[in-house]
Amino acid sequence: MSTRQRTINRRSLFRQAAVTAAFGPLFQTTTGAAGGQQSVNRNSAPSTLKIADMRACRVAANYDYPIIRLDTNQGVYGLGEVRDAGVEGIALVLKHHLVGRNPLDIEGTLRPLRPFANHGRMGGGYSAVDMALHDLAGKVYGVPAYRLIGQKVRDRIRIYADTTDSKDPKVYAERMKKRKETGITFFKMDLHSNLVADRPGALNERGVCTAKGLGYLCEYIAAIRDVIGEGAPLAADHFGPLNVNDAITYARAFEKYQLSWAEDLLQAGERNQHPYLNWQAYKSIADATVTPVLTGEDIFGLEGGFRELIEHRAVDAIHPDIETSGGLLETKRIADAAEAAGIPVAMHHAGSPIGAFAGYHCAATFRNFLAMENHALDMPWWQDLVKGVPKPIIDKGYVAVPETPGLGLELNDDVVKEHLRRPGYFEPTPMFDDAIVSGFAPGGAWPHYDENGKWCDCVSYQ
Ligand SMILES: [Mg+2]
Repeated sequence: MSTRQRTINRRSLFRQAAVTAAFGPLFQTTTGAAGGQQSVNRNSAPSTLKIADMRACRVAANYDYPIIRLDTNQGVYGLGEVRDAGVEGIALVLKHHLVGRNPLDIEGTLRPLRPFANHGRMGGGYSAVDMALHDLAGKVYGVPAYRLIGQKVRDRIRIYADTTDSKDPKVYAERMKKRKETGITFFKMDLHSNLVADRPGALNERGVCTAKGLGYLCEYIAAIRDVIGEGAPLAADHFGPLNVNDAITYARAFEKYQLSWAEDLLQAGERNQHPYLNWQAYKSIADATVTPVLTGEDIFGLEGGFRELIEHRAVDAIHPDIETSGGLLETKRIADAAEAAGIPVAMHHAGSPIGAFAGYHCAATFRNFLAMENHALDMPWWQDLVKGVPKPIIDKGYVAVPETPGLGLELNDDVVKEHLRRPGYFEPTPMFDDAIVSGFAPGGAWPHYDENGKWCDCVSYQ
């Protein structure tokens, strides 16, 4: 034996010993009752892992939280969340297309589901399934979900706070001050044109602010700037039924307050079905003002969704909601495309901690991340819905990215059961065993003459 061969053999032995030390429990065999027959821990058999079931429940909240669970043949399961204020059925109709598949084949499992996904709440089913697959895969591989999509570039996620408005600028500012006292460092205000509807001459006949009305709106921004400070990030949302020229007028009026962004200046459902896909309109607005323009909370996917806004630089920042945009994998693709165009990413969120943590894992990998929304700061039980993560979940305006496997948290069954919108906690779903929607679903045998002219009640190639 040559010196080289001896070296290789010693290295091989050493490597084998190291592997046994590291993964011993994974491959540890046990002797069956009959003696001599060996079996392995099926929870550690990724190649034969199969999705066996999908079940759901719905939490009653400011925006209801439909939560799904993907069960497998090996006991390990994954949790996901349908878009807030949606319904679990948008995920459950996909059950037939998932059962029997290996959930570790994440891209292969998601690809056939893409035709079932669309913008707004219609993206919720696909997105929930993506989250559950990443939760499952992280648990099986023993890694946090972020490792499945990229590299962690931050340990904590900055939270931005939505705040309930008031027609009294002083009351509104007081509410924002309370947000600041919790440690929040990034603020958002709703700035409905309707806030000034009672003041003579403030709105035109379309419900849009006149020059006088815009002056009143700016009083709210100024009052809030006073309490959060000149340099604190402040965004604004919900302006009313604006057209492109209205939006430009509003955004220019806000310029001196240096907002972090003006959100959804053209709002969903008010001008046409999907104003957020109208990149030409958004580009007209963004090119006419230095107030940063942002949209995206109701957009699904990169292709057919965010791509045009990004490639045409029609907005200054994008704002996906991981419960609509397609879950971790698709939202990472969207953020990467935005990064390549030099566009930052904020994240919308108004759901439960399940979807929130899916977002935190995703955002942990974004180099171009701004902040992620939380819409439950006035609901102390929000964080009690889950266990396994440090509490408070939001600590001085930030959330720590978990290092535990999968999404890194489990439902707190007792608390969730106290807050159900309707009876039933992950009950069986046999009504979704068969395809409810499908692109192509051969149904089986039918009576006919086959290709040899023989009568049969069978399947034959025609
Ligand atoms: Mg919004």
